[in-house]
Amino acid sequence: MENFKKLGLSSNTIDSLKRKGYEEPTPIQEKIIPLLLDKEKDLIGQAQTGTGKTAAFGLPLIEKLSCENKDVQAIILTPTRELAIQVAEEINSLKGKKRINIAPIYGGQSIELQLRKLKKGVQIVVGTPGRIMDHLNRGTLKIDRLSYFILDEADEMLNMGFFEDIEEIIKYTNEDKKVWLFSATIPDRILKLAKNYMKDYEFVRVSKEQLATELTDQIYFEVNGTDKFEALCRIIDVEADFYGLVFCRTKVKVEEVANRMIDRGYEAEALHGDISQHQRERILSKFKNRRISVLIATDVAARGLDINDLTHVINYSFPEDPNFYVHRIGRTGRAGKEGTAITFVTPAEYRRLSYIKKISKSSIRKEKLPEITDIINAKIDRLKLDLSDIIESKISKEYMKIAENLIEEHSPIETIASLLKYSFNGEFDESSYNKIKEVSLDKHGKTRLFVALGKSAKMDTKKLVDFILSKTKLKSINIKDIKIFDNFSFLTVPFEEAEIILKYFSKHKRGKRPLVDKAKAR
Ligand code: ADP
Ligand code: MG
Repeated sequence: MENFKKLGLSSNTIDSLKRKGYEEPTPIQEKIIPLLLDKEKDLIGQAQTGTGKTAAFGLPLIEKLSCENKDVQAIILTPTRELAIQVAEEINSLKGKKRINIAPIYGGQSIELQLRKLKKGVQIVVGTPGRIMDHLNRGTLKIDRLSYFILDEADEMLNMGFFEDIEEIIKYTNEDKKVWLFSATIPDRILKLAKNYMKDYEFVRVSKEQLATELTDQIYFEVNGTDKFEALCRIIDVEADFYGLVFCRTKVKVEEVANRMIDRGYEAEALHGDISQHQRERILSKFKNRRISVLIATDVAARGLDINDLTHVINYSFPEDPNFYVHRIGRTGRAGKEGTAITFVTPAEYRRLSYIKKISKSSIRKEKLPEITDIINAKIDRLKLDLSDIIESKISKEYMKIAENLIEEHSPIETIASLLKYSFNGEFDESSYNKIKEVSLDKHGKTRLFVALGKSAKMDTKKLVDFILSKTKLKSINIKDIKIFDNFSFLTVPFEEAEIILKYFSKHKRGKRPLVDKAKAR
């Protein structure tokens, strides 16, 4: 709490923080709060999802707004209605005794209700661009006396195609407002928006090293596409309290995986674009209340979910680009809790994994999938623990009597074994799991390399091999299909060695191209 006090917050908001149980500011809060309290400036705040950006701007906003003034003093735009509600709730819970009204304004809620709220006078409007545009067009919302224009989750808004709306909305605002923009990533288009609409802005970012990903253990499993489902089941079964989000690329895949999970007895649900808003809310509330423990979703459908204590995020389908990876895994390891991010990598995707590692600057470690015996042992261990708990909490006399009765006819071991069979119905049978084929990347992955040396440089097959070995310090290498031309050569090597070779030669250029490079596709 001391560290929050140091940032210059009032005792009113400090009390709210205490009530909420926030003990320490997050890194982005530490940087942004004093800055916004101190200066009237435009700002870009960049930090990964789950790092507390809402309070980073919400707290200064509460401190700065005036209760007497009944105009809309701040508007916060968010990409989804869930986020609008969440942001409004977060600010409400932080405002303490200060009498400011906050209204979430989003599509799907009745316009009349929103009109009534707006008429009463609200100082902070939190809304989705579409519905805000509606109100502006109808003249039922005035934002020409703003102190702050705030864009939350700007990259998501960009992804969802809201930028034209945003530029339209800005036209309704007064020139002298301040613009605050928050985003997990800052693509060029966002910088352009900032240049157009912001003045002399501060750019505050929390670098990867300080991010919550520290709390996320990132691992990957090599698995063939056809074995992914089986692998998913094993991962879930080996965990005592799996509570996770499984990402698939398409809604068809989401449906398929969800249906197979349900068939196999898991408590799972699917979330994708074809699910109605009503259904979506029902599913999310089930997930939040832990009545289901596995939610299978597309990237788009998972946007704006605010669930903080996921144990796992699983990339069932490989993320389409590194930003997706960062977004997906940002859903675990949040708010001080540890999490695990798992990526399934098929042989064909292996190279894209190195790319993701590079771009997201994360270390993703390879692990082996749990063996069937590991899972069954884990289940037995859990059963033992559960049994000791029950025994410790005293079993009622009735049950003791039935037990005595049961072992009169059969041995205790037979009796317990048949009880297990009766209640667990195959859960401990190895045969209820399917085999998973080992993936050997060396056998699958090969890379064709181009070398800018040929006969004219006195290269032959042996010299070429020696050259590569001596430069890269590889001991031996499985080189195939060497072709020496006058001015260049080609050769094929296994994936992992190709990565080493390419890395070495990336620093040794011939003209623009490295001396050794990936061969262009033929
Ligand atoms: P972001 O907008 O950066 O994705 P949020 O503002 O939604 O992150 O915050 C993520 C979660 O962390 C929320 O549940 C929020 O209540 C919680 N949180 C924010 N700041 C703190 C803090 N200082 N201490 C503990 N929890 C926090
Ligand atoms: Mg946010």
